[in-house]
Amino acid sequence: MPKKKLLQADYILAWDNAPEIISQGEIVIEDSLITYIGPRLERREKDFEEIIKGRDNLIMPGFINTHTHAAMSLFRGYADDMALMDWLNNKIWPAEAKLRKEDIYWGTMLAIAEMLRGGTTCFADMYFHMDEAARACLESGIRASLAQGLTGLDKIKGMAGLKEGSSLVRNWHNKGDGRITVMLGPHAPYTCPPDYLQKVLEKAADLDVPIHIHLAETRAEVKECLSKYGKTPVELMEEIGLLDHRVLAAHCVHLTEKEIEILAEKETAIAHNPGSNLKLGSGTAPVAKLLEKGVPVGLGTDSAASNNNLDMLEEMRLAALLPKGLLENPTVVPAETALKMATINGADALFLSNEVGILKKGAKADLIMFNLNQPHFYPRHNILAHLVYSARSADINLVMVNGTVLMSDGELLTIDEERVFFEAQLRATRLVY
Ligand SMILES: [Zn+2]
Repeated sequence: MPKKKLLQADYILAWDNAPEIISQGEIVIEDSLITYIGPRLERREKDFEEIIKGRDNLIMPGFINTHTHAAMSLFRGYADDMALMDWLNNKIWPAEAKLRKEDIYWGTMLAIAEMLRGGTTCFADMYFHMDEAARACLESGIRASLAQGLTGLDKIKGMAGLKEGSSLVRNWHNKGDGRITVMLGPHAPYTCPPDYLQKVLEKAADLDVPIHIHLAETRAEVKECLSKYGKTPVELMEEIGLLDHRVLAAHCVHLTEKEIEILAEKETAIAHNPGSNLKLGSGTAPVAKLLEKGVPVGLGTDSAASNNNLDMLEEMRLAALLPKGLLENPTVVPAETALKMATINGADALFLSNEVGILKKGAKADLIMFNLNQPHFYPRHNILAHLVYSARSADINLVMVNGTVLMSDGELLTIDEERVFFEAQLRATRLVY
């Protein structure tokens, strides 16, 4: 007998080509899958091991954070208001040199606690000692796509990293009831020369996993790439053949028209990180144009060291507001599009289309519930707009991943937060002194 759960709510956000709010709806979950979503039917309570009734609540797909470095939560507030390269060279990289394996586990746990509280049910991570991050995902119950961060400036280190990244694939891909998937993570064109990227590409094809890379994040990166290779970062990636593979490219802030065309043609997935790009003064990605060309753009927070939180509601709002202000056009990136970027597009970007990011029969039960009994949810003219422009992460009272409740009534059920806070503080202090 499969374990069945019944979730009822006053509103359920379903999405079949267009968003649809099901009033007085219900969802049936068997093991990890949604087997029914629609209006309420006659049911026998005894058929269900768990029944959740969300009066004045809304159920929607969990958010998908398409780019972060979870364990960098340990550096939150350590170095702020600095330019990217100064920040990396003089603060982050020296502190990272002191990281031990267990630090990654606790830093990732801190990030997962924050993400679950904010309604994130799946995230794409790139960092070091990723076995530890995988362990944190396995234990906490969250879904993740993990990549060992690779750099190829030093040949020996580069090859050792590639070996480690490959064994992460072999040891963790599709583990945790399929919740954990793995990509290869060459850090960026400025830390991975073309011949190294070629090797990573061959390995990714061999292992049949996608690639997660930082691309065209700052103007300085583009300038360096042009002077070194006579090509912009996206053109260089195209020349190497990287974009013929499944690629998740983070940032893509500084793009030419030609590069936008290339990304559209190659269907490269993009992780748009408006908060981090703003805070590091990197600029703003041409999101409206990318979306117009049909590029799958998801949303990411980047790390808590450059954001400084992992709140997808905030990213969603920024993604909707920024282009409106920049282009002096309030019709670009409407609420519906921003919501799609945080869910459906996120799933596309992580190559998990139709599995997550959407509530429908056959999809994984990764969902969140908002308590709408709050002043900022009234009047109920347009709940979809409320989710983007008014909702707060504190409104989220239930989080489910793969059919398992991970947060209920504001309590995390799989994470001992007090212990996580203690360990994170202890380790973060050691890293910066
Ligand atoms: Zn990043």
